[in-house]
Amino acid sequence: MDRRKFLRNTGLGMLALASPISFSSCGEPTRKVAKSGKLNLSFESYELKLRHSFNLAKYSRTTTPGVQVRLEYDGIIGYGEASMPPYLGESVESVTKFLSQLDLSQFNDPFRIEDIHDYMDKVAPDNRAAKASVDIALHDLLGKIMEQPWYKIWGLNPENAPDTSFTIGIDKADIVRKKVDEAEPYNVLKVKMGLDNDKELVDIIRSKTNRPICVDANQGWNDKEKALEMCHWLSERNCLFVEQPMPKEMIDETAWLRERSPLPIIADEFLQRLPDVMRAAQAYDGINIKLMKSTGMHEAYKMAVLAKSMGMKVMLGCMTETSCAVSAASQLAPMVDWADLDGNLLIANDIFDGMKIVNGKVTIPERPGIGVIPL
Ligand code: MG
Repeated sequence: MDRRKFLRNTGLGMLALASPISFSSCGEPTRKVAKSGKLNLSFESYELKLRHSFNLAKYSRTTTPGVQVRLEYDGIIGYGEASMPPYLGESVESVTKFLSQLDLSQFNDPFRIEDIHDYMDKVAPDNRAAKASVDIALHDLLGKIMEQPWYKIWGLNPENAPDTSFTIGIDKADIVRKKVDEAEPYNVLKVKMGLDNDKELVDIIRSKTNRPICVDANQGWNDKEKALEMCHWLSERNCLFVEQPMPKEMIDETAWLRERSPLPIIADEFLQRLPDVMRAAQAYDGINIKLMKSTGMHEAYKMAVLAKSMGMKVMLGCMTETSCAVSAASQLAPMVDWADLDGNLLIANDIFDGMKIVNGKVTIPERPGIGVIPL
């Protein structure tokens, strides 16, 4: 089936308006449609095409495999997405296999988010992106039933959403200069590092702009003394923080670096889900939450609350994704210190309208659910 037809087929998301919440005599909201319905899950693979080849310290690629998900309940459609960059170990095959194993029709109340997550964790322990696709679609569905965006349901002020950074990948000097020109609308640049020419890359950027940068070494620095020297060097060049400077296994060395670094040290590859936040506190100043790691919005929210309660910095990131998953993540943006929500800007074949960057700032759509409509 054509994927646009797949997204739009039957029901349509805006049928949410046909099944409004009503209120009982005691003022409690009741959902008249909830008891008779069933959750119907459907999915289809969708390959994301990148505007530039994506070069990290450890590999390079021009596409990202993805799966688009629809969750239907009484004529209301929730949209979700799994994005599977190869280093996370999931694929179209593993995601579709996991989703095929799910029987969500056993849940006749879509508001049982905890039960649905417990069930998914019992079906298979990993498959985090696959679980995220269901979680995002479920949140979209529930927000449409409640006719509210999730930032409002969580009680967040959208004005507190930060600027997003825009990623400048490792590349040849002339391409880096071109990417810096393309990044003109963004107030913060994210620089991917971890190769021998790290300083050269920053020098090229600094020859064109003094905007703040944040650095992601993607585990590329194996020597703690070199990592510390880089942190000092970067701190003199308007750098905000350094993400995953050393391999995730080098916990003691990272704690050593954290003690001495003038810049905050943020965990990315080191952590995935909620129990990892406490471990990260031993060696890192903050965490990078991504929906494809956290199994979606439900656990991502808990991770942000826990990290903030321990005084840690919170960053909100994404994979290369359509505006579907990026808009879902944007609902959490008012809770975080830094956002890196440029995944939809890095692809050439987006199929949703959703979160926008306005004057460099994450701007959450005024629509129910995760705030997207299919293009
Ligand atoms: Mg990272």
